[in-house]
Amino acid sequence: MKKEINIGNVKIGGKNPIVIQSMTNTNTENIEETLSQINRLYKAGCELVRVSIPTFEAAIALKNITKKSPIPVIADIHYDYKLAIESIKNGAKKIRINPGNIGNKEKVKEIVKVAKEYNIPIRVGANSGSISNEFAHLSKVDALCESALKEVKILESLGFYNIVISVKSSDVKETIQAYEKIYNITEYPLHLGVTEAGTYEWALIKSSIALGYLLYNGIGDTIRISIAGDPVNEVIVAKKILISLNLRKGPQIIACPTCARTNIDVENWANILEQRFSNKNIKIAVLGCVVNGIGEGKDADIGIAGIPNGFILFKDGKIIGQFKSEEIIDVLEKYINTGEEK
Ligand code: SF4
Repeated sequence: MKKEINIGNVKIGGKNPIVIQSMTNTNTENIEETLSQINRLYKAGCELVRVSIPTFEAAIALKNITKKSPIPVIADIHYDYKLAIESIKNGAKKIRINPGNIGNKEKVKEIVKVAKEYNIPIRVGANSGSISNEFAHLSKVDALCESALKEVKILESLGFYNIVISVKSSDVKETIQAYEKIYNITEYPLHLGVTEAGTYEWALIKSSIALGYLLYNGIGDTIRISIAGDPVNEVIVAKKILISLNLRKGPQIIACPTCARTNIDVENWANILEQRFSNKNIKIAVLGCVVNGIGEGKDADIGIAGIPNGFILFKDGKIIGQFKSEEIIDVLEKYINTGEEK
């Protein structure tokens, strides 16, 4: 079990559930746009949000952003220690820095002093693009871990232990191996992610394999799915990974792949039900026919199977009734909302 770390009112590590985080891609200086994106992320289920602080103006804007954000804000800083200090003073509940690129130790010491004063954690770590030159002769996995540990040691040498670590690669196997290795040698909570995972499908596949494997094995305390594009997708994918591993409750739609027996447009109905019941902790099956469908959907809380003129509603493999297409949503809603299916 890893050390418990507080990020505002959110706890990671210890026995706490895995926390979902994402990152804005608006101009941080544009407070309105950034807050609007943070609110969209929050509504999708995001629990921590990171914003880049590339300029002093962005660090100033952070004051309004942190004040109005519904979730704790993490400031992502490179190179300039003054931006880190300003961000902490302006309400960042955690900062992500790379002590190696902050410059001399005195500057890191200044950041640590303020982080201690405000009692906020610092995430350090390495990704494929930030491996320290001195570890270039090592395997990529060892170099990622050694680079991260070097940063941890800098903070520890300053008496700072409020730390979160990441070791991200854009390669699935390297990500798995690096996190397995670092997990076994540190007590600090781990921020999991595949870095530069790519566009939607690649990011989805790489993240599901790497993070799925790690989380299944009990490794990881907070996750960020890196996807090029709208960050809301990162949160939706993160939620689905956690629900799939039973690490979080939430809606889950089981749908058959369809075949020549299909009586309904399974994909369309699955999408309709997914949207309609997106805020329910329920597993719903949508199946194209009754031949295998009811058996295949046995694991769901409730399900529907297509017949030529409507649907069969079933639960625990038993048929409850037959309904027309126009009435099936209302029937499902009634059963799900009132628990009449129980
Ligand atoms: S549930 Fe029916 S329609 Fe769907 S794949 Fe199975 S047999 Fe085919």
